[in-house]
Amino acid sequence: MPAETLLLQAKDVKTWFSIGRGIVGKSVYVKAVDGVSVDVGKGESVAVVGESGSGKTTLGKTLLRLYKPISGEILYDSRRIDNLNEDQLKWYRREAQIIYQDPFGSLNPFFTVERILSEPLSIHNIAKHYSEMKEMVNQALADVKLEPPEMFASKHPHMLSGGQRQRVAIARAMILKPKLIVADEPVSMLDASVRVEIMDLLKGLQEKYKTSLIYITHDLATIKYFSQTLYIMYAGKIVESGPTREILKEPLHPYTQALVSAIPDPNPENRKRYRNVPAGEPPSAVSPPSGCRFHPRCPYLIKGKCEVEEPQLIEIKGSRRVACYLHTK
Ligand code: SF4
Repeated sequence: MPAETLLLQAKDVKTWFSIGRGIVGKSVYVKAVDGVSVDVGKGESVAVVGESGSGKTTLGKTLLRLYKPISGEILYDSRRIDNLNEDQLKWYRREAQIIYQDPFGSLNPFFTVERILSEPLSIHNIAKHYSEMKEMVNQALADVKLEPPEMFASKHPHMLSGGQRQRVAIARAMILKPKLIVADEPVSMLDASVRVEIMDLLKGLQEKYKTSLIYITHDLATIKYFSQTLYIMYAGKIVESGPTREILKEPLHPYTQALVSAIPDPNPENRKRYRNVPAGEPPSAVSPPSGCRFHPRCPYLIKGKCEVEEPQLIEIKGSRRVACYLHTK
């Protein structure tokens, strides 16, 4: 991607958490993100997909610098942010926002909707007068279709439905007109009946304000809504990336194939296209498997190679990349 169209670039980022010392006195780490590179273009929507424990949420929080990586580089608009402290990051807190999975837990239950939405304006010293703040809050509520805004502004979170609470969370993220949003499973805790509405809303706002979006999910079925580019994450690593349409049409990594097979499809032939991946837990992030981290579950394991050498994420055609010996040497 040309540098002038890039908004965010992560290079070989590692986010490890120390959990104490092992029996020989060496530090033991959870290697939640273990050498990940991601590019996000201006106005682009990118999805990061993986099962629980894959490190996708830690990656999202690292890109927002809610976590500090132990190594690697993160560039935002060509400016390094991985090594900044909290004071130096204040400008970035305005540029990049997060929408959490749980709309109830992420909203302060003691605040009215107006206070929830006006808080970021106060922190960043944006609205000079009450009337200006009120206008911005009302516009944010109208943007997320909570109308009339005056009616919702005085409510507390417990007085709203799950879908309405997530609209407030989206309004809070968008009120600063950020250039980047990380949406972490934003519809997974909502009733099926409101999921599509919320996804449509988020997509509409992203396009309206030309915001770059990193959409994090375990559910490949929802990404068609959001993403032009897809990153598949497994055990702290990216195992496949490229244009979303191409990956969904022809997934290359056995793990991606298993995810695509799990998408509900009325045509049983499509579901049978790929070999089943044995069910099982994602591997330990403290001591991940040697070689290819997917090898204990892989139906295509090449004995003597996959358990020994780690496959690198290599470009194979156009902008598609895969880390698997079935496609690389
Ligand atoms: Fe399976 Fe080997 Fe490819 Fe890993 S590298 S996904 S174990 S075939």
